[in-house]
Amino acid sequence: MENTGRKSKVIAMANQKGGVSKTTTTVNLGIGLAKAGKKILLIDADAQGSLTASMGIREPDKLKETLAAVITSVMEGQEVEAGFGILTHEEGVQFLPANIDLAAVEVSLISAMSREYMLKEYIEAVAPYYDYIIIDCMPSLGMLTINALAAADTVLIPLQAQFLSLKGLEQLIATIMRIKKRINPALDFEGILLTMVDARTNYAKDIMELVRENYGQIIPVFENYIPLSVRVAEASAEGKSIFVHDPKGKAAEAYGILTKEVLAHGK
Ligand code: ADP
Ligand code: MG
Repeated sequence: MENTGRKSKVIAMANQKGGVSKTTTTVNLGIGLAKAGKKILLIDADAQGSLTASMGIREPDKLKETLAAVITSVMEGQEVEAGFGILTHEEGVQFLPANIDLAAVEVSLISAMSREYMLKEYIEAVAPYYDYIIIDCMPSLGMLTINALAAADTVLIPLQAQFLSLKGLEQLIATIMRIKKRINPALDFEGILLTMVDARTNYAKDIMELVRENYGQIIPVFENYIPLSVRVAEASAEGKSIFVHDPKGKAAEAYGILTKEVLAHGK
């Protein structure tokens, strides 16, 4: 691996609700940034291994070198070799996979010393090799998500365009604020991204307004949103990005704009 000598920007993709497009956005933003010439590491921090599957790994549970092995080593005070477990996707991003082993590791984290900082210790070791590291969080606010938020420079919140999503958002922001106060004062917001927006309804605009009214003071809301598109789901089933699967479609355009916005935010 080439040491870029730069500190990477670490983005946690977080929302405790499942099925809001965290994994999909991790893949497509990550590959979008790679297409812009950046060195990217995606970290699968969900025992379901959805990111790993979206990267084209057919049987994640057969992998031995995963985030679970990395965190176990850190907990045991061992050095993790830069490059351990890291795989390369054909579209130019690298990723650290996860599988069901991560569930047991999350349980053992609870009694570990400095338990909030295990992922941070690992990320600090690999950061010089990447421009951006994106952590795909699991759908809960448990120890692994806290580790991700402790290690992150910013948090990007994918929000499904439904009124019910707003309730969960309040709890998520409260948790992030607590982590900011006690564990990671430098943690900032990349923004709230509306996902799975159905062009046939007008919800999206109303929800965007509501989110801005309630949280706009503290959290930027991306102007651009991700449309609901069966193409997006097809792409992840095929282990590809939307840029390859349907390059001319609306979803590829939206992820392209998101990539530019994230680049414009700087590090
Ligand atoms: P999460 O990681 O938050 O649980 P996923 O990214 O796995 O969410 O998305 C949940 C499901 O919705 C997946 O089957 C995915 O392919 C699909 N999906 C994600 N984004 C879109 C979209 N913009 N349009 C249609 N389906 C989507
Ligand atoms: Mg996911």
